[in-house]
Formats: sequence, structure tokens, C-alpha cells
Amino acid sequence: MSKDTDVILPGATLGVLGGGQLGRMFAHAAQAMGYFTAVLDKDETSPAGLVSHQHLRTGYEDPQGLAELARLCAAVTTEFENVPAGSLNKLAESLPVSPAGSAVAIAQDRAAEKAHFVKCGVPCAPYAVIETAEQLAAVNDALLPGILKTARMGYDGKGQIRVKTREELVKAWSELKQVACVLEKMLPLAHECSVIVARGRNGDIVNLPVQRNLHRDGILAVTEVYEGNVPAAQAEQAVAAAKSVAIGLDYVGVLCVEFFVLDNGQLVVNEIAPRPHNSGHYSQNAMDVSQFELQVRCMTNLPLVQPRQHSATVMLNLLGDLWFKDGETAKAPAWDQILALPGAHLHLYGKVDAKPARKMGHLNITAASPEKARETALKAAEILGIEAF
Ligand code: ATP
Ligand code: MG
Repeated sequence: MSKDTDVILPGATLGVLGGGQLGRMFAHAAQAMGYFTAVLDKDETSPAGLVSHQHLRTGYEDPQGLAELARLCAAVTTEFENVPAGSLNKLAESLPVSPAGSAVAIAQDRAAEKAHFVKCGVPCAPYAVIETAEQLAAVNDALLPGILKTARMGYDGKGQIRVKTREELVKAWSELKQVACVLEKMLPLAHECSVIVARGRNGDIVNLPVQRNLHRDGILAVTEVYEGNVPAAQAEQAVAAAKSVAIGLDYVGVLCVEFFVLDNGQLVVNEIAPRPHNSGHYSQNAMDVSQFELQVRCMTNLPLVQPRQHSATVMLNLLGDLWFKDGETAKAPAWDQILALPGAHLHLYGKVDAKPARKMGHLNITAASPEKARETALKAAEILGIEAF
């Protein structure tokens, strides 16, 4: 068994729990560096399983699947934040696992996550934990209007209900089957941003530049990264906050910290993702080291060098909706027209069926200037039928 501090060199096999697009792009990055990859995911046609050397088709808690992954791999990471922390802990008995189950467990639970922000002294939205009818009744009126969010298993705005009154709150909690929830005060957002940090076992930490994000219907739609995308003071504050959140978790791996910027300029942390993040996909084409290569470097104890941005960039998420612009039969967008645009980098995840709101791919537009990147991205958006931004 390799020790946590050993460098794992190319030629070894790296494992990932989860076969989604993040796992696929992790496998691509690892393979580009000469590693072999193994994916654990039940789904026969999972995006990562389709491109990996090994694909173990078992559930995340299957003892045999986990044992086989441990046997094949020199180190394991995750691409899916709802992998049971217990599975990560089990694997960690026999090989290096990053991030650790303890850190993932905090990211999996909004209540624990918020308590961690408070502990790190990073401001988050005012909130209350609602696990019982008594806690529901005791909610402070100052939290309304608010958003009731399930403490666990939410993504892309799922498991969230916006509530204006106490009556709506009571109704929403029963709609959410009275599971453990967090009620957050609805804040006046000027915009949203996120920061990706990568931290090694020796405590070295590097970051990607601040990403400015536009969400539509609770799903990331556009990320813009260039000098001046957010005011410099806010950017500095966001990077410092993201690093303290990671250090407070003694985190190893790639971590995304999402923020709200309020109308008054105040920065408020929203949530963390213990893995590469949709808002970091631009790094594949605009940075000299991508978030997926950072993930490989963290898990193998390779050096973490501060990534350098070489192009201004705009990322457009390609949701399944774009396949249905002409009617009910799925039809792929005009990729030939998109790829005629300078600086257009198309990434598709190999998903067989397009469905509304399903993440099918993303388009990274790179350019020498922010103006040019935006201009080209707006042209691409028009061709694709994405609303201008
Ligand atoms: P994902 O994991 O895909 O990022 P999620 O389902 O975990 O999404 P959140 O990040 O909690 O959801 O919320 C989704 C979006 O809803 C946010 O990006 C933001 O646009 C809006 N939102 C969430 N909480 C608040 C709030 N307290 N005030 C105002 N807007 C909010
Ligand atoms: Mg979010």
C-alpha cells in the first residue's frame, strides 16, 4: 500500500467514485498524463465509464466493488458529492483517498456546512436548521422571505422551495416530506461567484481566479472569467475566504466555494462542492493547468503550481433544452456553426439522451480580451438559442 505522502507516478491507476461528466473529464486529464483510470458507477453508459480503462459497475456501497477498486488503484478520488462518506472511509483503510470522508460529509449536509462557515469566520446567509415541528414553529420572522432547502442531496436547485410567509413555510416543509432542512433568508443578489482551490497533503494550496456565475432556474448557465469580472477587492476577499474554508477542513483535493455578492457589495458564502465544479470548466482551455489536472496532482502528491490564466473566457453550459429548439424530437445543435467561431472549444459528455435541464456539455470560448470573449460567446448563444447575458 502506498503511503499518503508517496508520490504516485504516471503508469499507476487512479480511481474515481462516480461516472458523471466530472469523472469523465478527470479521466481525460489523468490519462493525458499517462495514468490508467478506474471508475465505479452502476450505470453501464456513464460518461466516465465510457472513457475509462476500467469500469466497475456497482453501487457506491457495494463491498466487492469497493474492494476491487482498492485492489486496482493507487489512489481514489470522488466526482460525486453524495458518495457515502462511509465508502470513502472504508477505502481509506487501504489506500490514499482525497478528499477525506470527513470533509465530504460536511459538504453533504447544509447544516454542517453552514456550521463550518461560522467556525471559519466566513459570513453566510442567516439561516435556521429545521428538523422538528418545534424548530419550524420557532423560526424567526426575519428569515422570511426565504428558501427552504433540504439539508442533504440537493443539486441544481432541486430540493428547494421559495417561501414568503409562515403558511408557505409550513406547506413547503411538508412538501419536502419533513426531512431535515435549512431555511435561508432570501438575499438581494447583485451577482454570484465561485472560487476553486486545490490543496495538497503537505498543505500547499493554489487557486483558480474568481469565476463570475449566472444561474438560470437554479442551474449554472454562464461563467465569465477575466480581469475585472468582479471588483478586485471582492475577488481578493473571495479567494481568502475559499482558502480558509479549505484549510479549516484540512482539505486535500479540489474544492469549489460558491459565493453570493449582495447589492451592498457584501460577500456571503453559499455552499461548497468537494470536487471540481461546473464553474471551473473554463480552466480546461483558459488556464495552463485545469481543475481536473489539479485533482490528479492533489491525489498523487505531485507539486501544485499556481495556475496561470492565458485567455479571457466565457463558458456556456449546454443543457438538453438546446436539443429541443425545433420541436419534440431531439436534434443536436449546429456544432459546425459553433466551431466556426474563433476560440470555441466544444466539450460534450457522451450522454445518449438529451433531456431538458440535463447537462449535456459545455462550450468554452477563449479570446485575447474580455470584450472579444463576450462578443463571441454572445454569437454562440444566439446560434444555440441561449438567452443573451
Ligand atoms: P448546485 O449544487 O447545483 O450549485 P444547489 O441545488 O445546491 O445548486 P444552491 O446553490 O443552494 O443550490 O442554490 C441555487 C441557486 O439559487 C443559487 O445559485 C442562487 O442563484 C439561488 N439562491 C440560493 N440561495 C439563495 C439565497 N439565500 N438568496 C438568494 N438566492 C439564493
Ligand atoms: Mg449551488
